[in-house]
Formats: sequence, structure tokens, C-alpha cells
Amino acid sequence: MYRTLNRTFGPLHWWPGDTPFEVAVGAILTQNTNWANVEKAIGRIKARGAMEPFALFGLDNGDLEELVRPSGFYRVKAKRLKAFLSTLCEDFGGDLAAMLSGDLLESRRRLLAISGIGEETADSILLYAGGRPLFVVDAYTRRILERHGILGGRPSYGDVQRLFMDVLPADAGLYNQYHALIVETGKRFCRKKPHCGQCPLREMPGRNSPGRRSVREATGRQPCSSGKKSSKRGSRKTAAPSS
Ligand code: SF4
Repeated sequence: MYRTLNRTFGPLHWWPGDTPFEVAVGAILTQNTNWANVEKAIGRIKARGAMEPFALFGLDNGDLEELVRPSGFYRVKAKRLKAFLSTLCEDFGGDLAAMLSGDLLESRRRLLAISGIGEETADSILLYAGGRPLFVVDAYTRRILERHGILGGRPSYGDVQRLFMDVLPADAGLYNQYHALIVETGKRFCRKKPHCGQCPLREMPGRNSPGRRSVREATGRQPCSSGKKSSKRGSRKTAAPSS
């Protein structure tokens, strides 16, 4: 799967952002919206000269809400940003690299303890802002794996993540590109109504293949299904940066 997608799309240079801090802010704002809206919010924060931990943390709630308004759910997102900034500024002196370094599981637990930060957001921050080797699982990942018979039932985030991390080397660069490739595939082809005919994964084993397959096995060559009856579990919209 990786080789096919990488050949098709080439390096995608994720995640867009001038600094790791901007990447982390983007990862929090991107929940449940499209990336174009996040870019507007990021543009407003930068125009205010606040894309820096203490500057952003120092804003009052109303100002912060106004800046992030284009990203949708702006009150909730302003609250999440404040919670993240509180840990970053008060516990780590605004040093994001320090916050994301050290024992990987401990860094992850620290992020997950922040109100409103779930596994996908925590792993996105650790991978894309911190360069830590954690595979990011999103709705597109689930949808593609489900449609090809690799996922069945209701696996947890961790179950899906382990499918990748158990067979791939712990390589942040590889995870970075792999997740970006999956999102690109999801956005372009594996939509609610899939466009299998043009999709680079059309030769990958399909949903009708017998049994649950491993990621490694899934790189075999059998015709894909039409994917007409997609599972609802893959339908949650997760925004992603455009490449
Ligand atoms: S071949 Fe079809 S089901 Fe498979 S990833 Fe592409 S669009 Fe989705």
C-alpha cells in the first residue's frame, strides 16, 4: 500500500507550518473542520503576532475565540488551545520541544491528559511537531482498511495503530509520509462514495476477500470491490492539511 501510494503521490512534505508550534496549533484546530478553515484561523493568529506560546496564552478568552472563529466550534477550540498552552507555558516554560521529548509514552500521556486532546490529535502533535515515531490513525485510515477487508468489527484507535506499528520500523519520516499518503487517497478517491476506478489502490485486495488481512498481506494484488456499501465507522470527517 505504501509503495503504491508513494509512487503515485511522491513526497507530500507534511505537515504545513512554519514552526512546530504552528503545527501543534493546527493539529488542535483541525478537529472536525476542513484545512482551509484552519488556515484562515492560523492566518488571523499570525496577523495578530500571536503564533508564539506566551503571546497566544496571554490573550483573553474572547480574543482567542475571535481569532480561531474560522475553524468552527471556536469556543471549544479556544478552550482546548488554552488548556494545551497552559501545560506548555506553565509546566515547560513555552518550550514545545521539551514538552514533546523524553519517554514517548509519557509524552503521549501528558498530551492526552489535556482536556479536548484525543489520540489522533496527540499523535499528530507528537509526529508532526515533535518528530516522534507514532503512526496517526484517522477516519480515512479506517475507511480504506475497512473497505479492503483489513479491518473488521470495531477496533480501537490503538488496535488500528498497532496494525501499522507492529510491522513498520519506528521511523517518524515513514509515518509522516504514510499518513499523508492515506489522507491524500481519502480526500481524492476514497470518499463517502469511492472513486475506485481512478484510485491507485484499486488493485489492492477488496472487502469481499475472505477473512481479515494484515497490512502486509493487503499489498497483494486482487481486484478491489466497488466499495459501494461503505461502513459508517469510516465516515467521520477528519480535516487534514492540504499537501
Ligand atoms: S480502491 Fe476504492 S475502496 Fe480502495 S482506497 Fe481506493 S477508493 Fe477506497
